[in-house]
Amino acid sequence: MKEKKWLITLIVLAMLVSLGILASRLFFDNNNGTSLEPIRRDPTAQNNSEVDLLILVNKDSKIPDDYHIELTKLDEVEVARVMINDLVGMRDAAAAEGISLSVNSAYRSKAEQQKIYDEIADKNKVALSGYSEHETGLAIDFALQSDDDGKDMKTWIWLSRNAYKYGFIHRYPEDKAHLTGISWEPWHYRYVGQNAAREMFEQDLVLEEYLLINATF
Ligand SMILES: [Zn+2]
Repeated sequence: MKEKKWLITLIVLAMLVSLGILASRLFFDNNNGTSLEPIRRDPTAQNNSEVDLLILVNKDSKIPDDYHIELTKLDEVEVARVMINDLVGMRDAAAAEGISLSVNSAYRSKAEQQKIYDEIADKNKVALSGYSEHETGLAIDFALQSDDDGKDMKTWIWLSRNAYKYGFIHRYPEDKAHLTGISWEPWHYRYVGQNAAREMFEQDLVLEEYLLINATF
C-alpha cells in the first residue's frame, strides 16, 4: 500500500515537471519571437529582398565593383529583373490612358557608360563610368511620344503623377538638383519598389534625402 502511494506521487511529480517544461517553452517562444518555421531561401534566386533597391549611385557614390543584378530583356534594352512586373504594369496603365511608354535607355555596362562619356562634348551632361545610375539596371529614360509637343509633354507629366504607384521615382527633379547633383531630367526614372516610391512621392523626397532620413546609425 505504501509503495502504491509512492508510485502515484512520482507519476504526479513527473506530470508536473513535464507541464512546467512545456509551459516555459511556450512562454519563451512567444517572447523571443523566434519562428519555428525554417526560413527557406533559394540561393540562386534574386528577388526584391536580396536586391538593394535603394542603392545610391551619384557623383559621390560609386557603384560597388562587385555589384551584380539579374537583367532581363525588354524590347531593345535590358532592365533589372526585379522591376519587370511593375514596369509592364505601368506600361499597361499608361496605354489605357493613351500614353505609350517607350524606353530610350536603361541598363548600361561600365564600358557602355564610358563610351558615352568619351563621345560627348559636354562632360557635365554625362556621368563618369561607375557613377551612373544606369549601371544599376534600376534606371530608365523614357522617350516622349511623337504627339507630345514642346510644352505639353504628356508622357512625362503622366509619369510624374503615376510612376510611384509602380515603384518608380522621378530621380532628378528641378528643385532638388543641389541634392542630386544632376539638373532636371524629366525622363529619368529610378525603380525603388512600391513602398519606398510611395513614401518619397508623398513626402516629396529624392533618394538622397530618403536615405538620410531612414539611416540607422
Ligand atoms: Zn537617365
